[in-house]
Amino acid sequence: MGISVKNLSRHYDNQKAVDSISFDAKPGRILGFLGPNGAGKSTTMRMLTGYLKPTSGEAEIADKSILTQAIEAKKHIGYLPENTPLYTDMYVKEFLNFVGQTYELKNLAHRVDEVINMVGLTPEQHKKIGMLSKGYRQRVGLAQAIIHNPDVLILDEPTSGLDPNQLIGIRALIKELGKNKTVIISTHIMQEVEAICDDIIIINKGKIVANDSLDGIKKANNQDSLEVIFRKLTA
Ligand code: ADP
Repeated sequence: MGISVKNLSRHYDNQKAVDSISFDAKPGRILGFLGPNGAGKSTTMRMLTGYLKPTSGEAEIADKSILTQAIEAKKHIGYLPENTPLYTDMYVKEFLNFVGQTYELKNLAHRVDEVINMVGLTPEQHKKIGMLSKGYRQRVGLAQAIIHNPDVLILDEPTSGLDPNQLIGIRALIKELGKNKTVIISTHIMQEVEAICDDIIIINKGKIVANDSLDGIKKANNQDSLEVIFRKLTA
């Protein structure tokens, strides 16, 4: 129930935003998807989640083609986009109920309470989303991504803008979710990668420049810090 990407590309006019990338992501492992701004991370994630059509290439989510079985593939995906678009006028529970209904979930009230508890939203659960701090909004974003218990989680900078306490909470949650799901997470925080990722892909100018386990990439680079390796491969 993982992700398999083959020669995936997305061009904008003459620019190859994503240039024929191939990789696999496996269940029970967290894959850190790294790269400088503009490298093609969000574009890749948006193609995998069906929000953007590839120019060429193919990908499978839980053995379903994103091109020919898009709806089936989507059922297996939980997606937290960058700058999560949330309905700020809705109450937390109202929003999660709404998302749950779109997935036609059974025992929805119970599931909404369950995800609220999982992401640590309990103290803020009666508020409107617009009244929440960035950290709690991010938790609502995560809650909507996991409400249908997907096999695959695609998280675009899930901890950006969080304070250090919130960071630790959300990282622990992602780590826990990663035990039995396939997780891809993009981030600029190398400490975060060291703390939660099993595998690393570094993308630069639309091309993959490293694809290894966290241990493997360090071994291959004389145990340099990830920050040094990142700069070496993308500067
Ligand atoms: P990242 O997420 O790694 O920061 P993106 O995937 O957002 O990178 O962007 C990759 C490249 O594609 C960038 O150079 C960006 O300017 C370009 N790009 C993204 N979306 C569009 C678009 N809608 N039209 C034109 N160029 C785009």
